[in-house]
Amino acid sequence: LFQNPKTLRNQPPLRCGRSFKMESQKPIFDLEKLDDEFVQKLVYDALVWSSLHGLVVGDKTYQKSGNVPGVGLMHAPIALLPTGFPEAYWKQACDVTPLFNELIDRVSLDGKFLQDSLSRTKKVDVFTSRLLDIHSKMLERNKKEDIRLGLHRFDYMLDEETNSLLQIEMNTISCSFPGLSRLVSQLHQSLLRSYGDQIGIDSERVPINTSTIQFADALAKAWLEYSNPRAVVMVIVQPEERNMYDQHLLSSILREKHNIVVIRKTLAEVEKEGSVQEDETLIVGGQAVAVVYFRSGYTPNDHPSESEWNARLLIEESSAVKCPSIAYHLTGSKKIQQELAKPGVLERFLDNKEDIAKLRKCFAGLWSLDDSEIVKQAIEKPGLFVMKPQREGGGNNIYGDDVRENLLRLQKEGEEGNAAYILMQRIFPKVSNMFLVREGVYHKHQAISELGVYGAYLRSKDKVIVNEQSGYLMRTKIASSDEGGVAAGFGVLDSIYLN
Ligand code: ADP
Ligand code: MG
Ligand code: MG
Repeated sequence: LFQNPKTLRNQPPLRCGRSFKMESQKPIFDLEKLDDEFVQKLVYDALVWSSLHGLVVGDKTYQKSGNVPGVGLMHAPIALLPTGFPEAYWKQACDVTPLFNELIDRVSLDGKFLQDSLSRTKKVDVFTSRLLDIHSKMLERNKKEDIRLGLHRFDYMLDEETNSLLQIEMNTISCSFPGLSRLVSQLHQSLLRSYGDQIGIDSERVPINTSTIQFADALAKAWLEYSNPRAVVMVIVQPEERNMYDQHLLSSILREKHNIVVIRKTLAEVEKEGSVQEDETLIVGGQAVAVVYFRSGYTPNDHPSESEWNARLLIEESSAVKCPSIAYHLTGSKKIQQELAKPGVLERFLDNKEDIAKLRKCFAGLWSLDDSEIVKQAIEKPGLFVMKPQREGGGNNIYGDDVRENLLRLQKEGEEGNAAYILMQRIFPKVSNMFLVREGVYHKHQAISELGVYGAYLRSKDKVIVNEQSGYLMRTKIASSDEGGVAAGFGVLDSIYLN
């Protein structure tokens, strides 16, 4: 039913309320059977493990914890035990990852497609417009990115109604938690080795997660491809970053395993200290930069002044490998996701029919607000839709009655504003009771989960050097919170238990 926009078009997207449940979605164990004393023991061990292994974030209550490493550390918010996930869907999500990596690369090369698809959004969204300006400048100069590095994360929810794995979004910039997610899987494996027998589950069924190593290795290979042994990897950071350990986990592998120097700079610092030489080498603080890895630069907040935009342009003009390039960045936007879901569009970028069918199978209903029939349905049944602006980083989407209000407002204001948003079919994952641990205490919550699968892609001209699924991240959030980012305090880091 809900698998592609075409089907949905002819059928109002009502929840059909079928009563059968998937056998495979049974909880992996019964929380009610675990008494408080036992759970406290697990929590204690989890907290010790997290502290010893660096599964930590900066504590908001310490002002300096966003700038000074080692000050004001707190264990990361976590699910105490992994969340059951059917193996068939896990395999499906892994299987499509290299295809999505390749798709992003191909779309990124079609400058006209990106510009055309976003041309109306450009008029109503200043942030997208600034990105597009940089992109057009590069097109005018016929600037080619010979070495292209993508460190992506593809996010999915398992829709209980339709019994399918549906993609929430594709992230092409600043994907968070490639560092901490590996540790969460290891924590869960360790807890299950100690307590699995008592709970009745087996540590072997938490898939091995090598996200950190695979992303660091891809960065190292890009550095190698750039072939200047004196050049560094530059991580673009926010001025304050409480998730810094997630980033340092990657940097430390680059240093210790690959012997690569890593520097951290804000966009403002790049503007101040940076220049591009005649041969297009990017120099920052006197050092040549081989690879620029963005962990900032994805929201308007990351660009408080012209300095940050100047820095982004400077980087784009250089020969450094950008992760992501402006074209990769734009390819990850919500509008492009919606365009790709239109009939016939995947066929423009991919040849293999089976591959196309695999990708399309993951697409939820996605529509432009120009589709008056869908807008009408969304006004009638706003709970079945999510309205999304062209933003990243959580907390920006519109849900429930606000969908109706915003659609009515846009109808009054005229058509232009439509292009700032897309509409998406709301996905309803299974709700189950879970133990979530934050600030040292556990609570039992009704929660839902979102699986992120990391994908690394590296290409040098005609040669694909890396194209792989690169670990995973489960995020679990309180069911009643619409958005529930981990940083916002509703979500926790989690791993999966294959069943
Ligand atoms: P962002 O780029 O800001 O992370 P997302 O598209 O991932 O934007 O949306 C943020 C969150 O909103 C997701 O992590 C998920 O919890 C929720 N969400 C997004 N799309 C849907 C959807 N179609 N159905 C249900 N929940 C959704
Ligand atoms: Mg995103
Ligand atoms: Mg997201």
